[in-house]
Amino acid sequence: MPIGIIGHYRCNYHDMGDHHPESPKRMDAIQDQLIRSGLDYVVRQIDASPIDKNLLNLVHQQSYIDHVLANAPQEKGAIFRLDDDTCMNSASLEAILYSAGAGINAVDLVMNKEISSAFCATRPPGHHAEHDKGMGFCFFNNIAIAAAYAQQKYNLDRIAIVDFDVHHGNGSEDIVRNVFQQNSQTKDKFLFCSTYQYPFYPFEMQASDTPPIINTPLPATTKGEEFRQAITEHWLPALEKFKPQLIFISAGFDAHIEDEMSQISLTEADYRWVTDELKTIANKYSEGRIISMLEGGYALSALGRSVVAHINGLIGN
Ligand SMILES: [Zn+2]
Repeated sequence: MPIGIIGHYRCNYHDMGDHHPESPKRMDAIQDQLIRSGLDYVVRQIDASPIDKNLLNLVHQQSYIDHVLANAPQEKGAIFRLDDDTCMNSASLEAILYSAGAGINAVDLVMNKEISSAFCATRPPGHHAEHDKGMGFCFFNNIAIAAAYAQQKYNLDRIAIVDFDVHHGNGSEDIVRNVFQQNSQTKDKFLFCSTYQYPFYPFEMQASDTPPIINTPLPATTKGEEFRQAITEHWLPALEKFKPQLIFISAGFDAHIEDEMSQISLTEADYRWVTDELKTIANKYSEGRIISMLEGGYALSALGRSVVAHINGLIGN
């Protein structure tokens, strides 16, 4: 079975301004490196479809969903500001719906064994979006929506969401704690693991080794060796114990040494390493199924190269 890369060109039209790091150029940087590496011949490239808006309330409060939908600019040149660094232009709503839809497509394709694993190369990202508010370049929590959809549609009992973006996945944690854990149908069915630079945006998380939340803060001086040690000590034992039937990865590449967003110094080899470790867990418990979704990563060349390393890990090259 091939690996699927799911995206849509309309994700490129969401634009928050010339100097905004979460830029359409990120999609081009990934595509360029896929071609350069020859991976574009190996993977199956799949067009995402927009999410059915009725699925957004699997994780989001209806009043917040309505707030985003009602304020989405219709006219060219119009801007709606969600927070200081998150805004919508007239093409954003469409990009938002395709970005969330890619996760739904990935779940169906992987669960129906049409592809072995998926990487969703879409934007905007989602892991900062909480159940009742968007923030930090994120509108809807793409990965939590896809995880909730997978649990419900395929009746899964154990889904892991792991997040190696340099920022804490506060939105995913919020949804696990305040949505999934509060519902008897979804309680204890999700495990969330996050590594992140600390102290750092969004400044609201606490270290935890108690399921369903494994929060692993890393100091700004962290290099690959310390990152690998933290994963080995905190994530892997929790994942072994949980035995996930499906693994979601919030794949952010902004901890890369070339990425000026953070001070942590990872390289492509570290992203390959963590992918290999997760693949080993997936092969053991999840029939190899991994759904990875792009979050951060703003140094364009490093982003493209890191995605290639990550996809090679998913393939097992
Ligand atoms: Zn980030």
